[in-house]
Amino acid sequence: MSYLSSIDPEMASLIDQEAIRQEEGLELIASENYTSKAVMEANGSVLTNKYAEGYPGRRYYEGCGLYDTMEDMARNRLKEIFGAKFVNVQPHSGAQANMAVEMAFLNAGDTILSLDLDHGGHLSHGHKLNYSGRNFNIVGYKVNPDTEQLDYDAIAQLARECKPQLIIAGASAYPRTIDFEKFGNIAKEVGALLMADIAHIAGLVAAGLHNSPIGIADFVTSTTHKTLRGPRGGVIMCNTLEHHKKINSLVFPGIQGGPLMHTIAAKAVAFKEVLDPSYKQYQKQVLLNCQALLGALKDKGYRIVSGGSDNHLFLLDLASKGLQGKEASHALEEAGITTNMNLIPYDKNPAMNPSGLRMGTPALTTRGMKEPQMVKTAELIDKVLNNIDNEDIIKEVKTEVIKLAKEFPLYNK
Ligand SMILES: *Cc1c(COP(=O)(O)O)cnc(C)c1O
Repeated sequence: MSYLSSIDPEMASLIDQEAIRQEEGLELIASENYTSKAVMEANGSVLTNKYAEGYPGRRYYEGCGLYDTMEDMARNRLKEIFGAKFVNVQPHSGAQANMAVEMAFLNAGDTILSLDLDHGGHLSHGHKLNYSGRNFNIVGYKVNPDTEQLDYDAIAQLARECKPQLIIAGASAYPRTIDFEKFGNIAKEVGALLMADIAHIAGLVAAGLHNSPIGIADFVTSTTHKTLRGPRGGVIMCNTLEHHKKINSLVFPGIQGGPLMHTIAAKAVAFKEVLDPSYKQYQKQVLLNCQALLGALKDKGYRIVSGGSDNHLFLLDLASKGLQGKEASHALEEAGITTNMNLIPYDKNPAMNPSGLRMGTPALTTRGMKEPQMVKTAELIDKVLNNIDNEDIIKEVKTEVIKLAKEFPLYNK
């Protein structure tokens, strides 16, 4: 970054330091991943200079011809990946994709039935400080206290009682398969619209390793930067032209101005990578690595919420080791292992210092790590968590973390 270094050396230095952090650390945050250099080239390109308000063929600015082609590439590839009929690739983020659907089809005060935040739901599904919780009546479903998994009979019962206009299926911290067909049946029975938010599991759905909500849910929203491994952003898919038109006008001019065309181009590049056969292999390894990591931690005496995982992430219950989330995630970060503290279902501790750690394997798998490295990572995690006040041991682990990470170079190949 020679230009940046000469114009703003302070910022260049911060970015350099962050590149080293990414290169030398073990990234276990379940919602993160590393995009390819190709995606970053598109995202960091001259496309950031252009206004392209509107949609392909219907722009409000001149000079948009190439942008129509780019946005159509992104749309067509997304349709091909998921078998979707209509798509919108303009949402700046997953939260804005959800906002667009909720605002397009609900009136203020309408009821949304969604997974309780404390049980793995997302802010945009009804947190009281989020626009969703501010504008709509939110009813939360919970996981079963014994299995810690979704209980579809209980969700159906709740739906009959609260008669929601919208049901949301999808989560940020749910380690099990989501049965979209069951959600579809519940929505049909109570006359609700169904939105599937696949922000976390999109990559697995794309690879055919998780059942797909396409054609079942009225709307499918996703991020593009988690398992999907693209640039930071959102997308919306739906089944009918009527819904598509409403969504389009809610995204723009409803809640957004000019689309981030550099990001839309980068989304198109990422979608091309998803369509490559190697992507399915990658997602298979994400699942194998998740099993290897949680299995090794289980063997060391940690309790895994719901007993395991069907996807790319799991929740560690730290109570099984007499710890809490904040101290554990801080100590791990000092050792170069990044995770996030997370509420576990029916948590006895508060959100600011919950009982759980959320971990996922999309990022480490992108580096090329496999099962043996997951077993090694579990050993390093265990060493830190058994010695969270011992600076010397944490330093020792950090040295090992850097060594392991450097065996799987990220961008400095
Ligand atoms: C991450 C996530 C989002 C929001 O994504 P942002 O791009 O951060 O706004 C929405 N829904 C779910 C389920 C998520 O996990």
